[in-house]
Amino acid sequence: NLTVMSNKEGYDHLRKKHPCFSGEAHFIHGRIHLPVSPICNIHCRFCKRSLNKTENRPGVACKVLTPDEALRTLEKALLLCPELTVAGIAGPGDALATTDALETFELIEKKYPELIKCLSTNGLMLSENARRIADTGIKTISVTVNAVEPEILEKICSGIYYKNEYITGRKAAEILIAKQLEGIRTISRLEVLVKINTVLIPDINLSHIEEIARVTSEAGAAMMNIIPLIPQNEMSSHKAPDCTELNNARVSAEKYLQVFRHCKQCRADACGIPGRPGDLSELLYDQPLET
Ligand code: SF4
Ligand code: SF4
Ligand code: SF4
Repeated sequence: NLTVMSNKEGYDHLRKKHPCFSGEAHFIHGRIHLPVSPICNIHCRFCKRSLNKTENRPGVACKVLTPDEALRTLEKALLLCPELTVAGIAGPGDALATTDALETFELIEKKYPELIKCLSTNGLMLSENARRIADTGIKTISVTVNAVEPEILEKICSGIYYKNEYITGRKAAEILIAKQLEGIRTISRLEVLVKINTVLIPDINLSHIEEIARVTSEAGAAMMNIIPLIPQNEMSSHKAPDCTELNNARVSAEKYLQVFRHCKQCRADACGIPGRPGDLSELLYDQPLET
């Protein structure tokens, strides 16, 4: 499929400016996460969302912003950090569970068309929103895919809210996988660069990582970011991967996808250059926004 191939091969310029898609850019360019997405539409067993200033991990922000507040926060951030090339939305919930993220990106596209707009999602609502995502000028997205076999995914994700219904177990896993792959196919054909995020849970999906990379690569993904489990919530008794397991997983994924190895598992309101010390989010949120 020619369109999907060009998506994989033709995006070097974009990668060079995106700190989560290139090891080099990670140390030079900055990103801001605008925490506008309040809720999620699936239930990952390891997930623990929280509003606080202290924890350094995904799913945490000091507060949730409205799209207008997000735009004003971005204005302030660009003054503090001119190296910002990416405006991202990664929670604290799912960026496509409500319309807040897309409304925010529409505001950003009008005011700062030169910024790379980047969205992170579990993919459940990706195909439905694909056209609007592409029309808004979003160029990069991350889809979290933790398994491509329902019997493995049901151990990680216990339920989904889909079409006004809460669905659990094997059926939920089947729908989520089908929707993720459909979403990846649709969005990559619209020439949006797709990175897969996979949470590595050694006793559940370590030997399955290669298959995730193969199947998502076939669907049109270009890159993979394997993130070690932070054992918490219903998965607090599971072990996080050690360095060898993480490295083995990355090597097995590399057969099919380019692997990003620098992820630091940032907060949903992180701001700055990920590869350099210091985060600016405290400066951004300490004072009220000017009206
Ligand atoms: Fe949490 Fe993300 Fe899973 Fe939603 S998709 S439950 S926010 S980890
Ligand atoms: Fe984009 Fe994800 Fe990086 Fe945020 S963490 S800038 S959403 S790739
Ligand atoms: Fe980049 Fe990882 Fe931080 Fe996202 S969470 S901004 S991929 S370092």
